[in-house]
Amino acid sequence: MTFRARHLLGVEPLAPAEITTLLDLAETYVALNRRTVKHGDALEGLTQINLFFEASTRTQSSFELAGKRLGADVMNMAVAQSSVKKGETLIDTALTLNAMQPDLLVVRHPNSGAVNLLASKVNCAVLNAGDGRHEHPTQALLDALTIRRAKGRLHRLTVAICGDIAHSRVARSNLILLGKMENRVRLVGPATLMPRGAADWGCEIHEDMRAGLQDADVVMMLRLQKERMDGGFIPSEREYFHRWGLDAEKLALAKPDAIVMHPGPMNRGVEIDGTIADDINRSVIQDQVEMGVAVRMAAMDLLARNLRAERGARAAGGGVYV
Ligand code: ASP
Repeated sequence: MTFRARHLLGVEPLAPAEITTLLDLAETYVALNRRTVKHGDALEGLTQINLFFEASTRTQSSFELAGKRLGADVMNMAVAQSSVKKGETLIDTALTLNAMQPDLLVVRHPNSGAVNLLASKVNCAVLNAGDGRHEHPTQALLDALTIRRAKGRLHRLTVAICGDIAHSRVARSNLILLGKMENRVRLVGPATLMPRGAADWGCEIHEDMRAGLQDADVVMMLRLQKERMDGGFIPSEREYFHRWGLDAEKLALAKPDAIVMHPGPMNRGVEIDGTIADDINRSVIQDQVEMGVAVRMAAMDLLARNLRAERGARAAGGGVYV
């Protein structure tokens, strides 16, 4: 098997072959999820804990559904908006949960790097469900599956990632994944929302949205992450929509068959016109949600196989079973 990772903390360490393995397995789960009876047994007997220190709709619910459909015992820890802090408290939480013998720990945290830190303290497989501005690997993988299905391939495409790049882990993970699969990525948005150092990342950067969308195959819109902004990054929402919001006129500059994506939650009328978001001929936003469940099933399935193999090898070698 080409997927060897113990954790899924980001797309950065994944090889193109591992990405393809995961997407191919996810395809089988798309088929399973479309059946009336949606049960598999890949996670039978395993315990999955979802630990979300930040609010989530799609990611948490799809991880929960993914675990349940594959037979895991799933527990959701409701820590969003609580007073849990980083540092010792996070480690204490990790150690407490570790003592409950989970097999899969799905973690979202507002601090970049917090999930990696947590992974170093536990015995189970850890999946990053979004850490600060750092990475959101399952989002990039579900986006990749959506693109591959809509375009028939995942290479040599021009992908415009537009909006609040600076605060977006979705942009970062997508940029890395799409780059690994040999696509042409453009970052499009106001200079105030472009990360420092982006010029060295080997992708095109456009402040002018019209130039950025020219002949694009994929238009990926991002939410303005107001919760991560501590100052005036945009003139006004009205002005922002006028210059960087996706409307029919700007979309007309992309390829005629270009698809429109958004990870959600959407701010209609701020970064995207509601009519475009709802246009089933252009928008694949609902497909992204569907692919999210399948990709998370595949990710947990692959990590569980590696975990079982590791435990089996340890038991065979006379080591302690963890
Ligand atoms: N849901 C995505 C994330 O958690 C995108 C967003 O919140 O704008 O990063």
